[in-house]
Amino acid sequence: MEIIPGLYRIVDFLSTVYVIDTQEGLTLIDAGIAGSHKRIMRAIARLGYDPAQLRHILITHADGDHVGGVVPLVAASGARVYASAIEAQALARGQFSRPLRLRGLPRLLFWLARPLYRVTPFHAAEVVREGDILPGLGGLQVVETPGHTPGHLSFFAPASGILFAGDSMAYHNGKLRRPFALVTWDEQLALASLRKQAALQPQIVCLGHGPVVYDAFQKFSIPD
Ligand SMILES: [Zn+2]
Repeated sequence: MEIIPGLYRIVDFLSTVYVIDTQEGLTLIDAGIAGSHKRIMRAIARLGYDPAQLRHILITHADGDHVGGVVPLVAASGARVYASAIEAQALARGQFSRPLRLRGLPRLLFWLARPLYRVTPFHAAEVVREGDILPGLGGLQVVETPGHTPGHLSFFAPASGILFAGDSMAYHNGKLRRPFALVTWDEQLALASLRKQAALQPQIVCLGHGPVVYDAFQKFSIPD
């Protein structure tokens, strides 16, 4: 699906990735679950590109549904990978960047689903931080948005008002909200990150899970 010319959304099992035509190769936002790389590359080919044109992979956070495809995608393309220091370390270990606080049934369900979240360690992610600019849509600003995970990043394109928010927010009942408590590492940081992103007044928010949200600046729901 094309969001604006040169920006596409690929929805795969459990994960969403975004493809940006930078005119000097492709930028990918997140990299899907383990085993999704072939489907991602086929989807890129269907958009009319050669998957070998992949140059940059921007990681919002190191959960398995966002980084499972990193190693094979890099092997196929030689793309550079960018993440925060905390998430880059987690990716290098092939582990989550924080302890999971699941209990009871959710814990059991997650345990059963854990093969889907497996991550092959990747050691070569380049560390980026607040304010760095990465290739795509006239320049993608790194916005540190901890909460869901300690090192979560979002990426904002001021030229088009597009914000790639990963899992730093959730969309339900027509509103952009904090991620669900069950999957939030730090509630206060998540709220601060939501406020910070609302202040960017994005036109379009592209989430790690859920629909593309248009007129996004009108849809933030921020508790007092
Ligand atoms: Zn996710």
